[in-house]
Amino acid sequence: MKAMVLKGPNTPFELMDVPDPVAGPGEAVARVLACGAGLTIQHIKAGRITAPFPRIIGHEITGEIVETGAGVRGLAAGDAVTAYYYLNCGHCRWCLSSLEPLCDNPGGNVGRHCDGGYAQFIKLPAHVFIKLPAGLDYKAHPAQIGVITDALATPYKVLKRARVRAGETVAVFGAGGGVGIHQVMLAKWAKAKVIAVDVTRAKLDACLKAGADAVIDASACDPAAALRDLTRGQGVDVAIDYVSATTTLEAGIKALGRRGRLVTLGGAGRTFQASSLDIMLGEQDLLGSRYVTRTEILETLDIVARGEVWPLVSDVRPLAQAEALHERLERGEITGRAALLVGSA
Ligand SMILES: [Zn+2]
Repeated sequence: MKAMVLKGPNTPFELMDVPDPVAGPGEAVARVLACGAGLTIQHIKAGRITAPFPRIIGHEITGEIVETGAGVRGLAAGDAVTAYYYLNCGHCRWCLSSLEPLCDNPGGNVGRHCDGGYAQFIKLPAHVFIKLPAGLDYKAHPAQIGVITDALATPYKVLKRARVRAGETVAVFGAGGGVGIHQVMLAKWAKAKVIAVDVTRAKLDACLKAGADAVIDASACDPAAALRDLTRGQGVDVAIDYVSATTTLEAGIKALGRRGRLVTLGGAGRTFQASSLDIMLGEQDLLGSRYVTRTEILETLDIVARGEVWPLVSDVRPLAQAEALHERLERGEITGRAALLVGSA
């Protein structure tokens, strides 16, 4: 099969002929129609997230099962699928509690610790594939359907984690990024008032187009003060921080109102300062959010199947142009998500 292979960190893709994967016991192979391209996998390509090489990256796939190995049940050739990003064990207490991101026996990530979707075929443990619901026209829109498993499901999960209710005010830091802009869309879907925080005019304009009620250019003001002004001094109910730098985390916590919730995800593990007195007096919550559960992916697929939200994929091109696409990703030029078309249905 044709595959885009990375031979090491910070090297260009090489389009190679590699052996077709064969499904062993408990495994399945899918033909890849499309695969999303986001910052997480660009971090792997650039060497900022470690991975064993050579590697075929990519996890936001739309595919069709072509082969199942011995002992596989509930999955058959012809099934339309996407993939879960984590290679979780499936049998620990966290997996059995439908909290798979917290798995006791994590096996790594698709497209990082095993080969992913930048190839004509992908082989995974069968339970890592997720069947697409009827009603999603994945053949007509493989790029959009593929990115749901991360770019849409992640912000959907954050709404639940932060207990966002209709009418609440939600600030999104890094709102112009590939996941952040879908957070704007989904917070509007949840009937919240959304304030998008980012640093370039182009990104803020994209946030307004995606439904943001107001935008704040954090490069030109103190975003915490601006958020307080926009809420008449009350503060926001929820601050979701996709940047999670020290400055954004501190701005987010300062912008919270009473009973406010700050959610951190993305970022590089920075520390930040907060007043425990303010948190206590305001009864505020600090929350982490880590990827999503399979249930949350299924629920997000259903939301898209019902036509309530549609993924924003602004740059779709053939597999052979992976390098040029990732150069745009690295420069921060992509609005929403990008994706590669690999095969046709
Ligand atoms: Zn587990």
